[in-house]
Amino acid sequence: MSFDYDLFVIGGGSGGVRAARVAAGETGAKVALAEEDRYGGTCVIRGCVPKKLMVFASEYSGMVEDAQAYGWNIQPGAFDWDVFRSKLYTELDRLEGVYRNILKNNGVETFDMRARLVDAHTVELSDGTRKSAKHILIATGGRPVKPEIKGAELAITSNEIFHLDKLPERMLIVGGGYIACEFVGIMNGMGVEVTQYYRGAQILRGFDDEARGLVSEEMCQNGIKLHLGTNVLEMEREGDRIRVKATNGDEELFDQVMFATGRVPNADHLGLEGLGVELGRKGQIVVDDYSQTAVPSIYAIGDVTDRVNLTPVAIREGMAFVDTVFRGKPTPVDHALIPTAIFTQPEMGTVGLSEEEAAAQEPVEIYATSFKPMQTAFAGRSQRVLMKLIVSKATRKVLGCHIVAPGAGEMIQLVGIAVKMGATKEDFDRTVAVHPVMAEELVTLRQPVRSA
Ligand code: NDP
Repeated sequence: MSFDYDLFVIGGGSGGVRAARVAAGETGAKVALAEEDRYGGTCVIRGCVPKKLMVFASEYSGMVEDAQAYGWNIQPGAFDWDVFRSKLYTELDRLEGVYRNILKNNGVETFDMRARLVDAHTVELSDGTRKSAKHILIATGGRPVKPEIKGAELAITSNEIFHLDKLPERMLIVGGGYIACEFVGIMNGMGVEVTQYYRGAQILRGFDDEARGLVSEEMCQNGIKLHLGTNVLEMEREGDRIRVKATNGDEELFDQVMFATGRVPNADHLGLEGLGVELGRKGQIVVDDYSQTAVPSIYAIGDVTDRVNLTPVAIREGMAFVDTVFRGKPTPVDHALIPTAIFTQPEMGTVGLSEEEAAAQEPVEIYATSFKPMQTAFAGRSQRVLMKLIVSKATRKVLGCHIVAPGAGEMIQLVGIAVKMGATKEDFDRTVAVHPVMAEELVTLRQPVRSA
């Protein structure tokens, strides 16, 4: 049977673009890709990249005070959102162009429209044309969801935060996950008065308790009004503002409310019903270790499969898919020991098990230190950092590393290599310290602070 393409990819985000370009450019497959929105997907257009640029922008506010403490005669000025936003848009346009060019230069045919599946080998584009393909790869990502409460339509999500006409004076951010915690820091640094509601007992559920405790403390020190055990009951418009009634009885007016209350996979409206592709409880596409769905010709990667929802993981899944299907080298995706960073202020970097997870598995020793780093301590700040290792008593392997510090994302990438290689505490110990840096503490932790 002949097909129009060897591979049809639905979705032009990090995972889809990588799979399409490698399949076409490196294996010679005939590949097409459909994207209804902008190329680059969540990460490039409305996620990691613009978020990180906003983190950078927001961090300059504190730097002026620190510079003064170091003797610089400079005065803080106001942050100009319009200037930043227009530069941000230019950068995103440039990056989208890069993504389009990558596809073009690798011979991938692109369709700037929505696509849905008609059968196991056929895709229908929104203009009605149908294309057949030997393999179909779904890489449609996810989208933010708002809770179903009265007035939820008045709130924005992370999709809209990059497009504000002006910065609000007072803002409420709801949620305690990555997105909420990153944006409270960003908006606070940009001069917005920020309140955060989180329904649970501590933000960043699932991460190491000590690490998230420090992040939460430092966020409050930075001026964020964090209300734990609190949720929005209902909201209504009041003039230019939004009146929010909270579960703790508070009633407050905000200029802007953002829900960062989780994301759902974009697996609906794809025509999957009736094809035999299995969907999970959250609506995610269920795949095996090779990203193959229950229909052999249909694969799915990235957030739409709701495995580990991170850009580099989607890219890995895309590469493994190409190895499996187009290089005859079946490659399961390795989801173990993924280092990751949360761009809160202070930043958190983590790899492996939290103390709580590790202790539930086996006896462990905890090595940790918390201190005031030289650079900010000199400037008179009370900010503390945390370096923490979780070590197996039986094997001496470092099972987890948790860093809360400026630059923790950069540090954890490198620690991640050692942990992935199975380094023991003694391997860390025989590594000579780099002095004077914060990360040297990771190789000079002599005594465990406790066993667990
Ligand atoms: P998360 O699932 O991480 O967090 C959602 C938060 O919203 C949780 O605190 C959750 O509370 C809360 N919540 C859920 N439903 C409700 C509700 N009805 N009312 C009030 N609160 C609610 O989602 P995010 O949106 O923060 O991030 C999505 C994914 O994006 C992450 O899983 C991550 O993989 C990825 N991401 C990664 C980043 C990075 O690598 N730096 C940055 C941003 C996103 P509870 O804890 O009680 O369930």
